[in-house]
Amino acid sequence: MATDPAVREELVATVRRFVEKDVVPVASDLEHADEYPESIVATMRDLGLFGVTIPEEYDGLGLDLLTYCGVIEELSAGWMTLSGVLNTHVMCANLLKQSGTDAQKKALLPRLASGEIRGALSLSEPDAGSDTSALRCKATRDGDEYVVNGTKTWVTNGQRAGLVALAARTDEGITCFMVEKDPGAETFGGISVSKNIGKLGYKGIETVEMAWDGHRIPATCVLGGEAGLGRGQHFILSALEVGRINIAARAVGVGRAAFEAAIRYAQQRQTFGKPIAQHQAIQTKLADMGTQLQAARLLTQHAAERKDRGERCDVEAGMAKLFASEAAFEIATEAMRIHGGVGYTTELPVERYYRDAPLMIIGEGTNEIQRLVIARGLLSRYAIDD
Ligand SMILES: Cc1cc2nc3c(=O)[nH]c(=O)nc-3n(C[C@H](O)[C@H](O)[C@H](O)COP(=O)(O)OP(=O)(O)OC[C@H]3O[C@@H](n4cnc5c(N)ncnc54)[C@H](O)[C@@H]3O)c2cc1C
Repeated sequence: MATDPAVREELVATVRRFVEKDVVPVASDLEHADEYPESIVATMRDLGLFGVTIPEEYDGLGLDLLTYCGVIEELSAGWMTLSGVLNTHVMCANLLKQSGTDAQKKALLPRLASGEIRGALSLSEPDAGSDTSALRCKATRDGDEYVVNGTKTWVTNGQRAGLVALAARTDEGITCFMVEKDPGAETFGGISVSKNIGKLGYKGIETVEMAWDGHRIPATCVLGGEAGLGRGQHFILSALEVGRINIAARAVGVGRAAFEAAIRYAQQRQTFGKPIAQHQAIQTKLADMGTQLQAARLLTQHAAERKDRGERCDVEAGMAKLFASEAAFEIATEAMRIHGGVGYTTELPVERYYRDAPLMIIGEGTNEIQRLVIARGLLSRYAIDD
């Protein structure tokens, strides 16, 4: 059900104030130190952000995806990493909402909503990124348990997560398991964090490689129960629709921050006796950046509204993710150019926007893959009979 616009605006405005007061002043220092923002995440939990889209019957706020996009835009405009703390968590909650058994929903959703446990999504492997059907991590049935062996990579929030949505191969095909673990511990049973991956941007949040070495999990962890065996890839790929809308909203946040920094600076910086905003070459850049930003936001909102209405939105989510991520990258690059030399320094956050933006081109399915998804959807919508 669509959220009351007044409720949506109030939450988004609250998040905007929180970001201005508690995030913007410290984001650059935390990012350069690659430090996890403990106290900021604690406030996000207090604001109920870990349960934004979880239904009220499971103690969440029960708000729509459009509201969630507004929250993500605000967080990302302050520091893109904060949206990453939420994204895999929301994907886990969504997987449970869409495909979990009643018992799984009752046991896990309230704990996710409160932020008591946070979620990670573990699909990718060293040899299976775009090609998810190539994944090799194996779960072997042994009585009432499964024994998991394999290496997963690119697990964002992997170390701190208390719940991992794990894609592994069973006799029936790819199955999704909801695996609880000790958040914070480097090893838990047969699970260990084997590598912390260094990144260009998106710092302050861990993205790790995880080794599963004979780790035992109860058979009740299969998402959707016995009926979910072999259906994990389908479950996860349909949850990625929300993931892609999330990435688009993130890109809008980073693009907005870069655009606003550039248009402010262009009116302050003088060359040849006038503000650079009065040179036509700079005005052309600002016009293109503002147009790209607005188009990205509208595509994102359109995809979210379709999803909220329960309509199919694979094409729309793909278009929003594709356009918004490319736009954010271009806007961040132009913002740096408008700042001249100072844009290349660590004194201003423009260099961070430039390092954070490319992730949206790669994450949740690269833009090359996105184009394939969009084309497939368009060809099926516009199929001719003969
Ligand atoms: C910082 C970060 C965080 C991440 N977090 C997570 C996470 O939390 N959970 C998770 O499961 N994954 C995560 N990922 C993984 C991410 O989803 C993959 O990196 C992405 O899907 C691409 O896979 P790959 O890196 O193996 O690239 P590859 O699949 O090896 O692709 C390499 C290149 O080939 C192109 N390519 C591949 N196949 C085709 C094709 N058929 N046609 C045209 N071009 C093609 C790609 O677009 C790309 O340009 C994360 C990645 C990063 C960088």
